[in-house]
Amino acid sequence: MPTLLFDIDGTLIRTGGAGKHAMEAALRTAFGVSHIRDEVPYSGRTDPAIGRDLLRVHGVDPTAENFAKLSTAYLGHLQPSLHANGGEVLPGVTDLLIHLHGKKRRMGLLTGNVRAGARHKLSHFGLWDYFAFGGFGDVHHDRDDVARAALTALKDHSPDYKPADVWVIGDTPLDVKCARAIGAKVVAVATGWHSLDELAASEADLTLADLSDFQKLPSHWFH
Ligand SMILES: [Mg+2]
Repeated sequence: MPTLLFDIDGTLIRTGGAGKHAMEAALRTAFGVSHIRDEVPYSGRTDPAIGRDLLRVHGVDPTAENFAKLSTAYLGHLQPSLHANGGEVLPGVTDLLIHLHGKKRRMGLLTGNVRAGARHKLSHFGLWDYFAFGGFGDVHHDRDDVARAALTALKDHSPDYKPADVWVIGDTPLDVKCARAIGAKVVAVATGWHSLDELAASEADLTLADLSDFQKLPSHWFH
């Protein structure tokens, strides 16, 4: 039976910038930053890596203590930000999760979000309960380490899993890279910030415009 590890932002949902806005609000309220510099990339990265760069760019020492302070403030801003910014479940995702859940497929998360942030985001869209385990960004700067954490969580959850049948579903070249770090196969979807061409260049096993056509996904996921 395949194991499916899903990225969140740009793969399952689009938050309309809610995560970024909540992070920026946290810089303002926890550290008194008045002018936000838009220099730090978010796509495909982990919250601690984004947080470290944000602190540094705004003249705050990126210590573990300051990241914890930023993270606490971020989580406080995230829920109102999700309500304020709209966002959406990406095409095909809800049907796909319902279908795979019906087939009792093993589904986990592999995300750079801190666990509490992942829960806020997916609960907001009614998707959190589909996932039994996951690798999260709480303590990792490198997404490859998040993939290794997801694999450890998978081993705890399902010791009988088949390593050759683990799939990562993500929207960035970094998702493809981290999947390779754990020997997993990858479906790359162009519903985030990266084009089909960019994703194809990262050599995913399968590159799709979105997740709306089950026929294009590996057939053994469904049978
Ligand atoms: Mg993503």
